[in-house]
Amino acid sequence: MRLTIIGCSGSFPGPDSPASCYLLEADGFRLVLDLGNGSLGVLQRHAGLYDIDAVCLSHLHADHCLDLCSYWVARTFHPDGPRPRIPVYSPGGAASRMARSYGLDDPPGMTEAFDFVTLVPGTQQIGPFRVTAAHVSHPVETFGFRLEHAGHSIAYSADTGESAALVGLAREADLLLCEASFLEGPGLPPDLHLTARQAAQHAARAGAGRLVLTHLVPWNDPARTLAEACGSSFTEPISLATSGHSFELG
Ligand SMILES: [Zn+2]
Repeated sequence: MRLTIIGCSGSFPGPDSPASCYLLEADGFRLVLDLGNGSLGVLQRHAGLYDIDAVCLSHLHADHCLDLCSYWVARTFHPDGPRPRIPVYSPGGAASRMARSYGLDDPPGMTEAFDFVTLVPGTQQIGPFRVTAAHVSHPVETFGFRLEHAGHSIAYSADTGESAALVGLAREADLLLCEASFLEGPGLPPDLHLTARQAAQHAARAGAGRLVLTHLVPWNDPARTLAEACGSSFTEPISLATSGHSFELG
């Protein structure tokens, strides 16, 4: 199983990365996890535009889903004709929400290009991946994920405040890809985002094998984000996500 960071910029694209997007590959299957603004461009450096087998959206905030609009154009209006539908797993309401985002009549909206499948908490098979989804703590319906393949596992926080569900998803995972939007400070709002230190505490509670900090907001100093996580009780490797970097598991 290979994880490639396509976009790791938090809340909006940064100078060195699009907003949230991750590519998971195994057995020739390509699953795109989130498709935030700017990500479709960088994604093409790592996968053919039409080689994506499924898309999974953690939630419907723009920085996690908006490039589905661009991908709809690419799959619908290719000079050789439209490309086959692929599944888009997402919280409920995605089909109409994405149609509105592009000003499309609904129906059909984007449903001729994408087969929208509503996520519910639980485990299902997506291609070669065993995917477990659970609600995390964010102002709109948001799913964190655990993805397993051939004895290896990756957990992804999506956007969340402190979350027992995230600890469950990341239980002894090889890698926890966890958001770290906030720096430590007074008056942080609950149930929205994590600090890097909180991300590391979640990784420690879960017994994860390594922590990759993501959803890095451009106005934060990344060195401080990393330092705050490294000052926690989590003793396994910690790194900052960077666009284009891949992790091989197995
Ligand atoms: Zn969000």
